[in-house]
Amino acid sequence: MHELSLCQQLCDQLLALARQEGAHCVHEVELEIGVLCCVEPEALRFCFEAMAKSGPLAATRLRVGRALAQAECEACGCRYEVTDWLSVCPRCGQRWRHLAGGDAIIIKAVEVS
Ligand SMILES: [Zn+2]
Repeated sequence: MHELSLCQQLCDQLLALARQEGAHCVHEVELEIGVLCCVEPEALRFCFEAMAKSGPLAATRLRVGRALAQAECEACGCRYEVTDWLSVCPRCGQRWRHLAGGDAIIIKAVEVS
């Protein structure tokens, strides 16, 4: 499962960060998941809770937001934000070309102590 390996990476990153800060507990993590990542926020949350049962991540609250992607219509040049791969141009209904954003998972904020 896609989310499982992502979650492993996320845990590793957070643990490294906690170590760096000399923290014993990661209280809250704010994540932004790009809409083009094909990651279900709920699945990621589920994996995280299953994985982080002990240690600094045991009580971590995960806040997950969605990052939209910028796109440009291939037919009419209209620029807009897409919310998933199935979106079509709001003006003419044609396919779009990906311009920027929405394709990464970003750790926006971490609260440790
Ligand atoms: Zn268009």
